[in-house]
Amino acid sequence: MEILHISAECYPVAKVGGLADVVGALPKYQNKFGDIAKVAMPCYKTNFFEKNNFEIVHEGGVWTGDYWRHFNVFKEKDNKLGFDLYLIDIPGLLDRGKPYGFYDDQERFTAFQKAVLNWLNSWADLPDVVHCHDHHSGLIPFMMTQCFQYQRLKEIPTVFTIHNAQYQGWMGWDKFSWIPAFDNWKSGLLDWDNNINSMAAGVRCAWSVTTVSCGYLEEIKSRANGLENLFQYEAGKCVGIVNGIDPEVWNPKTDRQIVANYGLQDVTSGKKANKIALCKQFGLNPRKPLVSFIGRAVPDKGVDLLPEVIDEVCNETDGAFNFLVLGSGNPDIEWGLKQLRKKYKDCYNVFVGYNEKLSHQIYAGTDFLLMPSRVEPCGLNQLYSLCYGSIPIVSSVGGLKDTVVDFGDKGGYGIRFLWVEPWDISRAIIRGKELFKNHQKMYALRKRMMKIDCSWTKAVKEYSNLYLKLK
Ligand code: ADP
Repeated sequence: MEILHISAECYPVAKVGGLADVVGALPKYQNKFGDIAKVAMPCYKTNFFEKNNFEIVHEGGVWTGDYWRHFNVFKEKDNKLGFDLYLIDIPGLLDRGKPYGFYDDQERFTAFQKAVLNWLNSWADLPDVVHCHDHHSGLIPFMMTQCFQYQRLKEIPTVFTIHNAQYQGWMGWDKFSWIPAFDNWKSGLLDWDNNINSMAAGVRCAWSVTTVSCGYLEEIKSRANGLENLFQYEAGKCVGIVNGIDPEVWNPKTDRQIVANYGLQDVTSGKKANKIALCKQFGLNPRKPLVSFIGRAVPDKGVDLLPEVIDEVCNETDGAFNFLVLGSGNPDIEWGLKQLRKKYKDCYNVFVGYNEKLSHQIYAGTDFLLMPSRVEPCGLNQLYSLCYGSIPIVSSVGGLKDTVVDFGDKGGYGIRFLWVEPWDISRAIIRGKELFKNHQKMYALRKRMMKIDCSWTKAVKEYSNLYLKLK
């Protein structure tokens, strides 16, 4: 089975969040299991592109409005990632230092999707499945089935995976002409609330839709940034498949980014060595329990509540905990996190920015990993924390609900809370105080977590079954 994945992110080429981790790992494991999986993504100006070898395999052009855009398709020559990687280079549009956050993002990703399809149209042998990820490739199932110039691609099954339904790729109907010609009476397939909505188009036109956890699939029927009715209506073709993680990147036994490697047997001493180094770097006391947060600084992650939560926990426990935050995003939230440092110099620190190496060191060195998310389609951080033996403290939403069992329940290993409110988050953290003192219990929970199979094996099989059903 040949699968072409189309995505805006892919680790280690370009990463903003979990989408990159998934698209960097799923195709690799699909190849290992006998499929032929390839990835097409935009060619940004990233270190990976500068430092690796590429060859041009296709050249073409697309119109966006009045502009003719020349594009190149670069193929990575050395199979560094375990799958064929194709970068779509559109000079002037895609060749920027980061994936998103530009005034012309809609034009950039529409041109990207058209360039991918123009290139695909030129293939002698077409793939068996086109697998699109998030709204940046949501127009593709529509264009493949409706646009005259892509008639040849009509019979290829499409899968559309939703990694986050909050972001939908809206654009005004004045951009209508960016989409290649189709029967105008079909324009309702693109529309939601009088706008072109790439995510809605992807959900309607893909042969099958997946979300990255079952819990999230249920949630979006009642909370999906306006698309709730659509998800209720299309429920019949939607399925939840929980993400895996890549043990070649996330494994405390082999991780070269952490201070001391460790496994099940030496988890206590291994984590201790990593914690001491981490606490030293951030001026924290390694004898206190360390609670960390890693993630995008956006309200969906609940990180805006951290100042209040930390205040409450420090007051109630007389400063018994340490806190460490790694994140970047919303400037107001970043400011709040930096301000808190003035008040709690000895037991709180923050690194504002994106730092892959530090994230590995935190997963390895922290005792608890806090995820007070309001929305969490799957969540990878809690899976990494399980592998590294750090106890996840999570809200009961989406994928967190599917992957973390409270230690009070049979076979449990994490801490869960119901309300994404400072009082309930604080209470959950404080539950960790007694746990931390009980070394035997901590060891037992860590062992239990680290034994959980978070690999891609199950998800790869589920995707494979889904593709087969579509053929
Ligand atoms: P989302 O995709 O919503 O951001 P996920 O939990 O699915 O959330 O994935 C987040 C990924 O991004 C994880 O690999 C996490 O370690 C990483 N990450 C998020 N913020 C940062 C940061 N500031 N520095 C390093 N890694 C980060």
